[in-house]
Amino acid sequence: MAARIRILSENLSNKIAAGEVVERPSSVVKEMVENSLDAGASEIVVEIEAGGRRLIKVSDNGCGMSREDALLALERHATSKIVTDDDLLSISTLGFRGEALPSIASVSRLTLSSREKGSVEGTEIYAEGGVIRHVKARGMADGTVVEVRNLFFNTPARLKFMKSAETEAGHVADHITRLALSRPDVRFVYLNDGRVVFRALKSDLRERALSLLGRSMAAQISSVDREDGGMRLHGLAARPECSRSVASHLYTFVNGRFVRDRVLQHAVLQAYRRFLEKGRYPVAALFLSLPPGDVDVNVHPTKHEVRFREQSRVHDFITSTLEGMLHSTPWKQRPAPETVSPGVAGEPVAERRVAEVRDSLTAYQARTSVAAPSALKEIPFHRVPVTEKVPAQIAAPTPDLTRSDVTQPTPVAGFFSSLSFIGQYAGAYLVCCDGEDLVLVDQHAAHERVAFERFRREFSVGSVESQGLLFPEVIEFSHSESAVVDEHLPLLKKLGFHLEDFGGTARVAQSVPRMLAKRDFIRVLRDVVEELSLLGRSRSFLDIQEEILMRMACHSVVRGVHLMSGAEAAALFNALDSVGFATNCPHGRPVFRRISREEVEKMFKRV
Ligand code: ADP
Ligand code: MG
Repeated sequence: MAARIRILSENLSNKIAAGEVVERPSSVVKEMVENSLDAGASEIVVEIEAGGRRLIKVSDNGCGMSREDALLALERHATSKIVTDDDLLSISTLGFRGEALPSIASVSRLTLSSREKGSVEGTEIYAEGGVIRHVKARGMADGTVVEVRNLFFNTPARLKFMKSAETEAGHVADHITRLALSRPDVRFVYLNDGRVVFRALKSDLRERALSLLGRSMAAQISSVDREDGGMRLHGLAARPECSRSVASHLYTFVNGRFVRDRVLQHAVLQAYRRFLEKGRYPVAALFLSLPPGDVDVNVHPTKHEVRFREQSRVHDFITSTLEGMLHSTPWKQRPAPETVSPGVAGEPVAERRVAEVRDSLTAYQARTSVAAPSALKEIPFHRVPVTEKVPAQIAAPTPDLTRSDVTQPTPVAGFFSSLSFIGQYAGAYLVCCDGEDLVLVDQHAAHERVAFERFRREFSVGSVESQGLLFPEVIEFSHSESAVVDEHLPLLKKLGFHLEDFGGTARVAQSVPRMLAKRDFIRVLRDVVEELSLLGRSRSFLDIQEEILMRMACHSVVRGVHLMSGAEAAALFNALDSVGFATNCPHGRPVFRRISREEVEKMFKRV
């Protein structure tokens, strides 16, 4: 019988390797830019067309390759970066597996042009689906240019997984952002369909981070640098208020390589734990350096995972370094985020003044629309500083969602409105009677449920009701976030956020969901954008729709002590009766609890 086991052809094994290394256009960009950095380039230009599907081109001014080397570079396991087993223990380059070029060549039409410093001419090699079609001399500057056309043209299954051009371009921006953060000394230019997305000049880390993540971060970031026992942690970390709902802005690097590592992430979160709510992630770019022998980067072909020899020592070093930084900054003196007005936290005086005037005018706008002209005298031009003790009524105004109901109560028959209201307990619970029973209502859970149902209803029949901002708010996004914003503009509009271009990656919010107008809508918007960015990857909109609406509802509610009048309580009860699932908040916490007369009597040992 003939043998059934065969050695795979080189081309086929390259295609299989490509499955691991080349997931999408951004992976090609990552591999090529890493090669350019390993080649000592001081300038790297990345250009893509049609989200990288039509063209990905990476040019550098690095050391270049001779004709022989350029041909070898396309062979599997050909690398100039390691020679012996021992070299694996002291890797100082980004690449070493010798897989990227042949893998990419096997799933695209690839042109590799390179000219070694000092040689008279360059070489151009053209390969189609991994098969070399021509090799010729070419006049060019020193360095290397790799052009990848029609990625996945011969692997239809992969092609099907490609997302829209905007999403893919966003992923590319993500990868270049990481690489550019890791090497501020290298000039990076990124062009998408002929348009310059960013141009990062040679600079230091702080300047690089601001140019990539937004200048508005300038006042929010602090630097950290500590060395101990052969390890060094340096970089930048933002104040806790800049937190995000996903770890997308937590950039961690080990020996100059971007990694997403569980141990590192845990160590960072541990340091921030007292300043951040659960589920929030800080914004930071942190670089850990340690002897190459203490960390194994050869865990996965994309090298995004690492293994530390002394995991807990690394963890503790990072946590203690960041804790030290967080405790020595004035941030910790800041009140908890809930008690701070949106946009006021830590801004320079001038900006705070603008915020004050804007708030006053917004309040004015809201009042004049319902009040008689004589009410003009009561315009609250004085803003109460958040640090002062203020009457609860001012600190926690009535949530908008009940306001209209207070003025024109529309009784709705139902359980909640049938309760007789006794009073409020601890500024957070409504104490009521239902016949013989005592009923406690958690007003926050109730508000959240009502807001969620309103958002859901408005969203399903058209769009979430929005309110124009008298002073439109400029919001700076990262490159990949702005790509997500552009792609989902109509959806964001349906969610009540009307955004317009403001040059570069900044967008201006003309109007925002009405129920969020007086809350931290920027934070909510950022969270929503982060949720939407997951769409391109693994999830469908239906999966995240509830989560988004829940998040919006959660932020539309006033936290902390909130005194309520009987009329407000009645309005809330009416609202509760008009929505479904009123017995639990969107997160599943109960809205009310019943204590029977018998239980009360038992408490007093009467029965
Ligand atoms: P690796 O980076 O793991 O060595 P690659 O397949 O990415 O494997 O590249 C193979 C080899 O081609 C590299 O080791 C390097 O010698 C050479 N090479 C690739 N890109 C460049 C470049 N931009 N400039 C100079 N040499 C390069
Ligand atoms: Mg490489």
